[in-house]
Amino acid sequence: MPDFSIGVDLGGTNLRIAAVTGDGELLEKVTLGTKTALGPNHVITEMCDAIQRLTGNYQHSGKFLGAGIGIPGIIDLHTGMLRKSANLPGFEEYPVRNEIERRLGFPKNAARVVLENDANVAALGEQWLGAARGVPNMAVVTLGTGIGGGIVLDGKIWHGMNGMAGEYGHVTVEPEGVPCGCGNRGCVERYASASAVLRMAREAIATGHAPALAQAASHADFGPQSIYNLALQGDEPSRRIFQTFGRYLGIMLAGLVNTLNLEMFVLGGGAASAWDAFAPTMFQELRQRSIVYAATAPADPLMTMTMTTTNHSLRDDGASAQTESLTARKTIITQALLGSDAGLYGAARLAVLPG
Ligand SMILES: [Zn+2]
Repeated sequence: MPDFSIGVDLGGTNLRIAAVTGDGELLEKVTLGTKTALGPNHVITEMCDAIQRLTGNYQHSGKFLGAGIGIPGIIDLHTGMLRKSANLPGFEEYPVRNEIERRLGFPKNAARVVLENDANVAALGEQWLGAARGVPNMAVVTLGTGIGGGIVLDGKIWHGMNGMAGEYGHVTVEPEGVPCGCGNRGCVERYASASAVLRMAREAIATGHAPALAQAASHADFGPQSIYNLALQGDEPSRRIFQTFGRYLGIMLAGLVNTLNLEMFVLGGGAASAWDAFAPTMFQELRQRSIVYAATAPADPLMTMTMTTTNHSLRDDGASAQTESLTARKTIITQALLGSDAGLYGAARLAVLPG
């Protein structure tokens, strides 16, 4: 049995813990509720009990290398504390890493505890075992309620000066656009996120020219999924919402591609599943606005499966890839593969990376 590490996804609702081997094989996964109302002490104790149960189950067959903890919020990487988290009330100024190490008896057994922003560990997970497996330089753009993400360079998370790199959601795509909670106007997450889809649907309904949307909105379960379903059925106002989504996302991605010239950009998060509806206008903007993308675009970027296979075969045959001209290497923009498990795998990976 190979050595293993623990990955933890400490979310505002769920606390998930997994034991993963150094080769990326999942040994065991546990899902608990995060009882934030009972305070950080309680949550961290429950987490550590589960980590000890898992390490106990596998410690006789392989060495326990450490634990990575993915947390939503801004983390001080030096002190191992949360500076700000909307989803974990009461955790600010709580010494998260120290308390975990104390409960687990670290560092005397040489294993270590690493804290990381949840979007960054999800990026690392997709890079290690997901859509960008084998691709050392990549970025994940997470399309959820807002937009988050992470950048991985040479297989390691790029933090920026103080851990705030990857805030793509607040890149301006419309100078006088919709106001954003961050204080700016026209941030991309006001146009290309689940909340943006809902806003645009409400605006379309208010014009009186979106009868199918208005009818769907009278159902209790009305949400981005129902708007996507209408778009797939050919409802014009719903289609336009996702075309707008794709257009603004494409504008933001064009800037990223021009700036970073990475091998792969992976779109994750719940709203990425509307790919079919927003990808055409996204790629149209990318080609039009990014000189780097236009020079490196795959022949058919919408054929994601083919793209991914092609990319993998290039990787597996390193010698021939080396001899190809620069522009023969393509900028791949594709969907994430691991879903919410990306964060668990990424956190486990983090614990064993040198750093
Ligand atoms: Zn903003």
